[in-house]
This record gives sequence, C-alpha cells and structure tokens, in this order.
Amino acid sequence: MVGARVAGSPAAIELARRGRKVVVLDSSTFPSDTLSTHVVFPTLTAELAALGALEPLLATGTPKQPKVLINHGGIDVHWDYTPVDGYDFGMCPRRTTLDGVLVDVAREAGAEIREATKVTGLEWTAGRVSGVHYKDREGNTGTIGCKLVIGADGRRSTVASLVGSAVPYRRDENGRGLVFMYVDDPYPADSEERSQLFQWRVGDTLGMYFPTCDNGAVVLFMPPREQVNWFGQDLVHWNERLNQYPMLKERIAGGAPRTKLRKASDPFSYFRKSSGPGWALVGDAGHFKDPVIAQGIRDGVHYGRKLGQAAAAALDDPTWLDRALFDWELDRDRECVISYHFALRLSKTHPVSPVELEIWKASEHDPQRARRLADAFGRTLSPEKLLNYPDLITWTARGFLDRRQSNRDVLGDVTRELSTKARLYRDLARISRGKRLVPRNWEAWGGTKPIPPEKLTADHVAPRQPQRSDLARDEGELVRASANGVHPAPTLEQAS
Ligand SMILES: Cc1cc2nc3c(=O)[nH]c(=O)nc-3n(C[C@H](O)[C@H](O)[C@H](O)COP(=O)(O)OP(=O)(O)OC[C@H]3O[C@@H](n4cnc5c(N)ncnc54)[C@H](O)[C@@H]3O)c2cc1C
Repeated sequence: MVGARVAGSPAAIELARRGRKVVVLDSSTFPSDTLSTHVVFPTLTAELAALGALEPLLATGTPKQPKVLINHGGIDVHWDYTPVDGYDFGMCPRRTTLDGVLVDVAREAGAEIREATKVTGLEWTAGRVSGVHYKDREGNTGTIGCKLVIGADGRRSTVASLVGSAVPYRRDENGRGLVFMYVDDPYPADSEERSQLFQWRVGDTLGMYFPTCDNGAVVLFMPPREQVNWFGQDLVHWNERLNQYPMLKERIAGGAPRTKLRKASDPFSYFRKSSGPGWALVGDAGHFKDPVIAQGIRDGVHYGRKLGQAAAAALDDPTWLDRALFDWELDRDRECVISYHFALRLSKTHPVSPVELEIWKASEHDPQRARRLADAFGRTLSPEKLLNYPDLITWTARGFLDRRQSNRDVLGDVTRELSTKARLYRDLARISRGKRLVPRNWEAWGGTKPIPPEKLTADHVAPRQPQRSDLARDEGELVRASANGVHPAPTLEQAS
C-alpha cells in the first residue's frame, strides 16, 4: 500500500483484519497535516464507527455536529440529518487528528506502517505489478514483493504515473477555489454553538465556519478560483471579504488566527483508470471531485474499505483479483459520478440563480424539505431525487412567476440543469454496460485524441510531470499586511 491517510489506512485495516499481510509505505510521518479542509457527514461517522476509529476520534475532543445553518440568497435554512446506522452527526476533525487515528487503528489491526518511506518505482513480472521500490529517510533503498499494489497516494499519485494512468481520462474544471485559515473558536469547548456548521453565500462566494477539534475552527471562503490569488495577497483583502459576511464575522469575533492563510486554486475534478493487473488506485489517486460538497474523505474511507474487502478475498488468484478490482472500480464510479455532477453544479460561481432560490425558499420553513437537502449533501439521498422532475417543474414555474427574476435567467437555469442530467445519464448508461465513464476533455488536458480508457497503456500516455498549477500547494504563507515584514498573527478583529 502506498499512502496511509484516509484512503490507505482503511484499505489496510480491512486487509489486515482478514488475515492478509499488509505493508503501508508513506513518505509523510504521522500525525501530520495535509492541504484539505475536513467537513464530514454522518455517512462517514458511521464508516469510522465500523472501523473502530470513531471512539478514539471523539476522545480527542472533536465536536459532534448534528446541525447546519445554510444561508443562500438571504434565506436561512436549518437542517439536521437522517441518521446513518444510528449516527446523526457530522464532524470537522483536523486531518492531523483524523489521519493519525486511522494510522493507529491500522497498526492495531496488524498492518505494518513505514513512515518517511517514499515509493520510487514498481516491480513488474509478466505484465503484472509485483512489488514496489522504495527509499527511506536514511536513504536506504529496497524492494517489497506483493500480489497487489494499492496507490492511495493522493492527487499527484506516483503509482498512477508508474502504471501510465496519471492522465485522467475524464477531467472537468472546478469553478471554485479555496482560501482558509484556522482560528480560535471564541465559544467554550462544550457550548451549543460548536455543534453547528455554517455556510453563507454572498454573491458568487461561499463563506463557511466549521468548529474543529482543539477548540479551534476553520474559516473558509470558496470564491471563483481566479479570485484566490487576490484573496490570499494580504489580510486586507481577506478582511474586506469578511466584512461582507456580518454573521460570519460575528461568529468568529475575538477568535485569533492560529495559522497562516492556505489556498487551493486549481483542484480540478477527474477520474483516472483505477485498476489493472496487480494494481489499484483509491482515494484521490483515482478520483477527485470539487471539495464544495465535502465528500473526498468519505469516498477515500468508503472505497478504501470496499477495496480492502474485495481484494482480501481474491488476492490468491490473479484473474479473480483483476476482475474484482475492475468491479470495485465500476462500483465506485457508479456512485461517485452522481456526486461528481452534483459538485460541478455547486462549483458554478454565479450568484444564487432563480431556480436555486426557489429551492431555498421551499426549504426555509419546511423541516422535511430541509432534511432532504441535508441528506443530498450527506449522501443518504441521491441529488437526482432532490432535483427531481416534478419539483424542477414547480420551481421553474415559480421562477417565471416571480417578477423580480428575469425569464431568461430562469430558462438558462433550467437548460443547464437538463443538460447536466443528460450528461449524468449518459455516464450511468455507459457504466451499466460494464464500461468506464465517457472520456472527456482530453484536449483541455493537453492530450491528442480520445483513446478509450480500456485501451490506455503506458505507451499511449507519456506520464506527465505534475505541475504546480495542478494543485496549488499549501502556500502556507501568512500574507503580509504591509511590505515591511511579517505581522505576528493579528486577530481577525484587529485586522478588519
Ligand atoms: C483544499 C481542499 C479542501 C478539501 N476539503 C474537503 C472537505 O472539507 N471534506 C472532504 O471530505 N474532503 C475534502 N477534500 C478532499 C480530501 O482532502 C481528499 O479527498 C482526501 O485527502 C484524499 O485522501 P487520500 O488518502 O486519497 O490522499 P492524501 O490525503 O493526499 O494522502 C496521500 C498520502 O500518500 C503519501 N504519498 C504520496 N506519494 C507517495 C510516495 N511516492 N510514496 C509514499 N507515500 C506517498 C502522502 O505522503 C500522503 O500521506 C479537500 C481537498 C482539498 C484539496
């Protein structure tokens, strides 16, 4: 296994618990952070409980969050969740904490985890991957032979490059980027206020507040991605935007920053070919969608577990193993492509559109409708059931009747929705025929002509070196408020 975070450790746990020998190599040491915010919904809470990781996580002081307040277009919608296996709360654990807990549970399950050890190459035998080459922190190199190599090594996956799958066969641009920082939560650890997540949309930008462990919180803006650099230039810009969110400002009043600003301006969405002879890619290594729906961690854990379970049974028979890996991949795509399209919808950066406004209005005083929204975000209700045709017709009609909306905007809205549905159904139809998703956007990615993903080999795809723009690194720079030097972390209040 390459990578020990939210995708790697769950796969390792399932394999080890089924009596398989698992070695996990990770170039990081744990506990450690990674560039990610970390809102999770009850579906993940239930997964963590099944892994035995929920109790240790809650013991770190990670608050339970059963409530959400969303305000789009000036309308407050309060929601709670339909419980999943009895768990009705989400959370926002720092990755240092969450990933550290998962690594501990994997070790307890019997997996051998080697930190600060980088995988540098693959061993091939008769067309199958049969091991990895590595280099550890002392500079020692070595090779480990195995029946299966799982790449759980993130967006810049080394394993994907080495098997010729680095270029996604399906790629879509996200409209939003992320700028965030950690602050002290002004409310005490056990207060009611820390059991709620907040999201406000003003114009084209989402502003959010998520209480985390250690009595802290993350303050996050998701503006159009072209604005990310402007945002991150200095705290003056950050505070300028904060001033447009009076409720957010009020919520964090007095909370001093704990970290520098972090940003990500180009986390595009994709599917990579994720299985082949003796190898599989799980988590971000194989698939990524816009963080606006906060599902990457859940999918890493969920499909990590499913991969571990499927592989453990099939490991001794190469033909059965490859079939099991392909079935696992199609299963992932069948479910994830629905969220993929949902995320692309929410990644669009226009201000609240007429049909959206009708959805929020319909949910404002109707707890059942609000619950449906919660469940669509939380993954217990398909977004397609939320955005069903009868409701779409009603919301469109209301949009046309609302004199404040332009008919052209309403029409544009409904046309966009129908074409998204058409794309989604085309993808689902292809998966139901036992094929990978419809390839798309090769040209945008610098490819030549579309090659069916089944026929892709390392010869077709010259592994492309990851570029800085592929994923803005953790800039990690406290942006300077003046040209004269770094200011010691000012409180947001002071700086505003
Ligand atoms: C800005 C941002 C915000 C996000 N917010 C959310 C959110 O709120 N909620 C949510 O659910 N998801 C969110 N996501 C998505 C989520 O972060 C990812 O889906 C998740 O981190 C994927 O986990 P992973 O285990 O696949 O990969 P990673 O977390 O990237 O871990 C990969 C591991 O592989 C190791 N590795 C890499 N190469 C090698 C090598 N050659 N040898 C050995 N080890 C190697 C790395 O050291 C690392 O530890 C966000 C993503 C971004 C970019």
